[in-house]
Amino acid sequence: MDPIIAANWKMHKTGREVEEFFNEFLPHLQGTIWIAPSATALRLASEKAKGSNVVIGAQNIYFEKEGAFTGEISAAQVADCGAQFVIIGHSERRRLFGETDLTIKKKIKSALDYNLRPLLCIGETLDERKAKKTSDVLTRQLTDVLEEDFNGVIAYEPVWAIGTGQSATSEIIEEAHGLIKDILKKLCKKGSDIPLLYGGSVTAETAPILSRTQNVDGALVGGASLEARSLLSIMKGFA
Ligand code: PEP
Repeated sequence: MDPIIAANWKMHKTGREVEEFFNEFLPHLQGTIWIAPSATALRLASEKAKGSNVVIGAQNIYFEKEGAFTGEISAAQVADCGAQFVIIGHSERRRLFGETDLTIKKKIKSALDYNLRPLLCIGETLDERKAKKTSDVLTRQLTDVLEEDFNGVIAYEPVWAIGTGQSATSEIIEEAHGLIKDILKKLCKKGSDIPLLYGGSVTAETAPILSRTQNVDGALVGGASLEARSLLSIMKGFA
């Protein structure tokens, strides 16, 4: 399969900055890129991406269809703004906003109900790795959440590697991805076809190494995806 490179813009970029990004990025784009801007820029980004190989997605959804949930945004609403995928269970949402495996499971169901491809993030904290609990954590984050009809994407993102400049080594990634692939095959009907991305301080320098690492089907990129040139270099590194 072609690698999936997904950009998580987190809480960055105003509308003007989104426009500037696309004006610089699109003329050089080769291959497909997934981009998750803030919800405020979803419609604008979808319009800018029209006719290109840019797939737009949301960074989060709430699991209810609609109702009295001030400040929340539903799967139907992000799909209406052009989103085709949604990041679910990012460690920042788990850590800073108290998301649990149960809410994550409900969000995945809601995403699938509205034809949004879920991009589920899992990964251990530094303390969990030090306590040799990595495989327990990854197993729990998958078995408590996935149903057999899951047909989304998984991103392995060790929490200690996100935004720290300290990417996981190829050995660590290979070991975790091997375990995750085995679990996916057991849990999901299409388990062997589910793409598995690595995320955590990916840069243009680490992309070529990652692309040669076993069982890596692409990358989820935060900080280094904000600049058009940097994201293009990461894509080149994977090509
Ligand atoms: C992320 O937020 O998913 C991420 C991987 O961030 P960064 O690339 O900045 O580590």
